[in-house]
Amino acid sequence: MLEDCSRCHCGCCKDGCPIYNTLFEEQVSARGRNLIIRAYLKGVIEADERLVRTVYSCLLCRLDEENCGARIPCAEIYENMRAHLVEKGVGPLPEHEALTASLRNYGNPWMQPKTAREKWIKRSKLPLKEEGEGAKSLYYSGCTFPLDPSIQSVPLAVAKLFRLAGEKFALLGKDEVCCGSTSLRIGERKLFEELRQNNMEKLKQYERVITSCAGCYKTMSQDYPDSDGKPEILHSLQVLRDLLKWGKLKPSETKVRVTYHDPCHLGRHSGMYDIPREIINSIPGVELVEMRNSRELARCCGSGAGVKTANPEVSLEIAKRRVEEACETGAEILLSACPFCEQGLIDATKAMKKKIKVMDIAELLLEACD
Ligand code: SF4
Ligand code: SF4
Repeated sequence: MLEDCSRCHCGCCKDGCPIYNTLFEEQVSARGRNLIIRAYLKGVIEADERLVRTVYSCLLCRLDEENCGARIPCAEIYENMRAHLVEKGVGPLPEHEALTASLRNYGNPWMQPKTAREKWIKRSKLPLKEEGEGAKSLYYSGCTFPLDPSIQSVPLAVAKLFRLAGEKFALLGKDEVCCGSTSLRIGERKLFEELRQNNMEKLKQYERVITSCAGCYKTMSQDYPDSDGKPEILHSLQVLRDLLKWGKLKPSETKVRVTYHDPCHLGRHSGMYDIPREIINSIPGVELVEMRNSRELARCCGSGAGVKTANPEVSLEIAKRRVEEACETGAEILLSACPFCEQGLIDATKAMKKKIKVMDIAELLLEACD
């Protein structure tokens, strides 16, 4: 595959690449990175710090694959290359050490005790855990929504919507463990396997697992093997869309102009473009205005694949450009469906002192249904 890239050498992958268009260095474009990896695989260069940093500089957002005529599967190649560097003992980056230690010690990447996962459930003052006993569906809240107070309102909004619609769901609370997405993206495959197995023991007791995190959804639906009793994996948007279709949720008029940021894990990685828009358009009075780059060509928020941990300044610059695009639409609200995107976009709106409000689709839907 990398042979095709070196023969073509077109550089179409640079078009829109968030990392290249921030640093303007050839080695961080897919074309440059592919040439460096090829030289390494041919034994021309060593796995030195420059090579390692180059391999870890990508967001794995897959925008390059939309623009690449040879359809080089760069994200897959870089994920494999990262796993190889970890095996060789030269990856991940030193900046990822705290994250991997946290995953090993606490089962989440945020250095928070396991009990912190229950805070949003307790704060809600609703008998959410008790109500879910014996339920066939599990609501898997993931690590980031429940452990970041600025977005804890999202799992609560989903839980309230499910209650409104009479949808029964169980919660694992402090027994939940990271899906392993972060470890997989930075090449820590052994750690991913430990987390996956730990997780599956709990998940396979249910018929379906619903999550609001685009990263958990992509990982559990695509990176967990289908064997091993894997239940049906759904993003909460899929469930909410069905509840709206069946008339179990009835949003009332909400006059507001919004735009929607496609998370890479939901869009390019999973092909889920229509469902979020169906939900937004189901709320009477809501005007959805698309950004310059949306759906398959949506620009990444800059938070993925360990880049934010290793290089927060670059990540913030990328998020700012996305917020700029959102502001161009004249929208009052920037919607998304992923905790990493929402964190990054909130940080950018604050840094830019922009008035646009970042919200999850579930939060807007709850406001319209409450
Ligand atoms: S667009 Fe594809 S083939 Fe062309 S340089 Fe980029 S990765 Fe290589
Ligand atoms: S996956 Fe995204 S960040 Fe990485 S090279 Fe491609 S467009 Fe750039």
